[in-house]
Amino acid sequence: MHTRYHNGLRGPRSGAGTSGLGTYVVCAAVFCALVACSPGMARAAAGLGEPTSEEIAWMRRLLVEIRANHDKLPVSVVNTINSLTKTVSWKFRCPRGARFKEIEMQVSTNHVHWDLSRLRQRRAVGGYAWRMELNALAGQAKVVADNWIMLDTEHLALQERMAKATGEPSVSEQTLYHELLHGEILLLAMATPEWQRKACDKQLDLEHLDAQHHMIDPAVNKYVERRTTELADVAVDADSH
Ligand SMILES: [Zn+2]
Repeated sequence: MHTRYHNGLRGPRSGAGTSGLGTYVVCAAVFCALVACSPGMARAAAGLGEPTSEEIAWMRRLLVEIRANHDKLPVSVVNTINSLTKTVSWKFRCPRGARFKEIEMQVSTNHVHWDLSRLRQRRAVGGYAWRMELNALAGQAKVVADNWIMLDTEHLALQERMAKATGEPSVSEQTLYHELLHGEILLLAMATPEWQRKACDKQLDLEHLDAQHHMIDPAVNKYVERRTTELADVAVDADSH
């Protein structure tokens, strides 16, 4: 979850990290486990609505920005981006003596309508939830993660208007980058032998959600720093012509 940035509307908060745009508070990522099913059914089961056309347009725009600035991302989020349009799946073999012989993984991320009531952090402007289930039959197991992501686009629009009014650079895609990292960091962990060994013994290790933002905050801050430097350079170039 990504909290609202300071933009003159809100006072300082504790537990904060800094970025080119100001300070934002740490927040807890959301986790809930539900029965895995098709994306449409999963949204309905979770009580989450379809994103509005405006939310979809924002998501597209922010994804374009992230893709265009991929070289500035300290941690790539390519797998989570892929999971927005298709089910990302892979298999791994389990060590001898483990509970399962093999595990098949399936991860997808659904863009859902913004609903602050689904998040623990009341001032959040984004959310990402892992919803994972393990099904086992004989020695085979399947882990299905049917995740969701949401963004408060009204707040993002307000923030952009304020940045424009003050002439500050605006890096709106940092909110999306933050949420995608909640997906990517666990996906990266899932590729490690340690994570896979535990899963082979029916333990889904969720420590790598980075709920405390130990990895996410520095990565987002670094990205914002690189982008604002670039935007400032572009502004200087434009002035000099
Ligand atoms: Zn977060």
